[in-house]
Amino acid sequence: MLHKYHEITPENFELAPDYVKKSESKRLSGILVDGVSGIVTHIAKCCKPIPGDNIIGFVTQGKGVAIHRKNCMELRRQAKIFPTKIVSVDWGNDAKREMFNADIEVIANDRTGLIRDLTELFSVEKISISGLKTHVKHNKAFMVFTLQVHGGDFNFTKIMAKIHSIHGVIDVVRK
Ligand SMILES: [Zn+2]
Repeated sequence: MLHKYHEITPENFELAPDYVKKSESKRLSGILVDGVSGIVTHIAKCCKPIPGDNIIGFVTQGKGVAIHRKNCMELRRQAKIFPTKIVSVDWGNDAKREMFNADIEVIANDRTGLIRDLTELFSVEKISISGLKTHVKHNKAFMVFTLQVHGGDFNFTKIMAKIHSIHGVIDVVRK
């Protein structure tokens, strides 16, 4: 019965906050905005920060505060136009219990079995992949993996080193 109360039906849809309709941007709880909790925040899609990253907030129109990585180029662009919309934010403790999407780009000499080797590595490391974009140019494969990572303990350096050790891999960067 309890969950029925929260169900979005055609009758109450208009009352649903914006983030319900835009499910592609992850809503977050527990982030402190200027030291205050309980403010609606969401993860910015341009830079997909995860706990441990240095973050900055940007007050959006109607969607609460967007959480960006401090070095995000999109944030810098927006901050130049609307400097007063920048707020300081902190992860707080709840984020460590949530799952996040993070993009990693792998550039490699294209070969048979390359994608298989990479997906096998992620599977051994118990990392789920929620997206993969790939293209090949001049015999080089460019692959962007969207990984589902746990907010509490994800070690980019470790996983990137393991990807580097796969035959043919030239470069690994976090997007
Ligand atoms: Zn951003």
